[in-house]
Amino acid sequence: MEAPSEFPSVTLSDLAASSSAAPADAVFALDSSGKTRLRFVQTGSVSVGPLVDFDLETAQVFRVGPVDLLCVSEESEGNATDERSFSRAFKVGFKTKDESKGFGIAFEKWKNRSSKDEALLENGSIVPSKSKFDSKIEATSAKMYFHYYGQLLHQQNMLQDFVRTGTYFAAVIENRSDFEGRVVVDVGAGSGILSLFAAQAGAKHVYAVEASEMAEYAQKLISGNPSLGQRITVIKGKVEEVELPEKADILISEPMGTLLVNERMLESYVIARDRFLTPSGKMFPTLGRIHMAPFSDEYLYVEVANKALFWHQQNFFGVDLTPLHGSAFQGYFSQPVVDAFDPRLLVSPPIFHNLDFTRMKEEDLYELDIPLNFIASVGTRVHGLACWFDVLFNGSTVQRWLTTSPGSPTTHWYQLRCVLQQPLYVMAGQQITGRLHLVAHSAQSYTIYLTLSTKTWGPGADQGGVVQTSTGKLELKEPYYRLSQPQAYASDAQPQQQQPQVVQPQDIHQLQDEIDPSLSLEQL
Ligand code: SAH
Repeated sequence: MEAPSEFPSVTLSDLAASSSAAPADAVFALDSSGKTRLRFVQTGSVSVGPLVDFDLETAQVFRVGPVDLLCVSEESEGNATDERSFSRAFKVGFKTKDESKGFGIAFEKWKNRSSKDEALLENGSIVPSKSKFDSKIEATSAKMYFHYYGQLLHQQNMLQDFVRTGTYFAAVIENRSDFEGRVVVDVGAGSGILSLFAAQAGAKHVYAVEASEMAEYAQKLISGNPSLGQRITVIKGKVEEVELPEKADILISEPMGTLLVNERMLESYVIARDRFLTPSGKMFPTLGRIHMAPFSDEYLYVEVANKALFWHQQNFFGVDLTPLHGSAFQGYFSQPVVDAFDPRLLVSPPIFHNLDFTRMKEEDLYELDIPLNFIASVGTRVHGLACWFDVLFNGSTVQRWLTTSPGSPTTHWYQLRCVLQQPLYVMAGQQITGRLHLVAHSAQSYTIYLTLSTKTWGPGADQGGVVQTSTGKLELKEPYYRLSQPQAYASDAQPQQQQPQVVQPQDIHQLQDEIDPSLSLEQL
């Protein structure tokens, strides 16, 4: 039997008891039944019996500061028929970083031994089960995604979106009764800003869960605001994987991507609801709506179509490029266009599709199939479908909407337009039908299948008219950010506040694409 590992003179505080930190010795050891345990005993008095005794199999450890760790475990009490499960969390403080690091290593070592021993006992091997996140998202996509959010510049970009941050602030502060004395979980806390808002609104305790390296900065920001920070615990990890010591009364999160669903973080929000929220708990935001309407925009259509003209050359340094023109043309039309447009480009009143975050299943987000039905207000050429979203904070005192609609103050989400290769002609009063079919994929985004149809009363009218249909397949992960382009619409509309340009993880290719391929290296 291996000798126990000991860490003398640490400090131990019970998060649930809010009592002051007590001195203790930490000991990793095997118990009489061969299970690995982590015990905290009163300093220098092993014989008194442990203050706290963790089964390492269900325990997890998180770093919450340079020298502090958080030990969380699931425990059960009572007999087999009347078993009660609960979670416990203790903060363990060390004198030095090295000591804290050594403890973390010992924890993992002893914990791993526990599952190995069990594997041997059960005469089989235990395959560590993948989390819900890991089993559906490609590792390379997740790595890039969390690397992006680990950088302060991208968090700053979101914080500086005044419409976004200001609406969250108002929604929280104006609904103080939903936060006062409550346990809050911040799902994907980023810089920790929403946790700090919740603490300002009187939250009893906030668990700020963040998977990226941003968790360390959040800890710094929170420690630097001690009057609020003492009620916030930062936990680094995915909401699909971490354990929390208690259930939440309210979840707060900003999981919205372009077209609401991009990045697939709404699924994490719904999983966090099922894992952490009490049955009567609240969610901020509560629901989301995707809005859609056909649009007409000759300038945009010509701009997209012309991008492929480069491949029309028959003598590019003696090479005929035209064999690739068709593919390039298709490629440009597969990019959804992200920019702020004038709402007068809409051909009919918009419709919307509701997503109730409090009730929907995670799987409901794998595929969204939205029937489209509009009546054209004007006779024109329809170039595609324009989309945007809003979310509702259904507070007990005030209901607040955060909208990204055209004509409203611009946000860093702008709006999204799917341009069709084949425009449709409509007359005023004519019906436009179709389907927006979104299919999620493992690179944290969606493939968009769009169909729009009109029925024209022409020579074939006896048979019910001539149907024109146009279809498109677009990749939500590869949008065309059309923000540096001059806006072609001379307008008497409200001047729009231009937000700083935001580069999303999926923009990286886009930025490369924006470099005109016909330029030589010298020109670049
Ligand atoms: N709440 C912050 C940040 C929002 S951006 C704010 O409003 O400013 C979304 C954040 O969620 C990112 O920092 C990202 O790293 C984090 N995130 C995304 N998916 C996550 C998951 N499954 N578990 C934990 N964090 C996640």
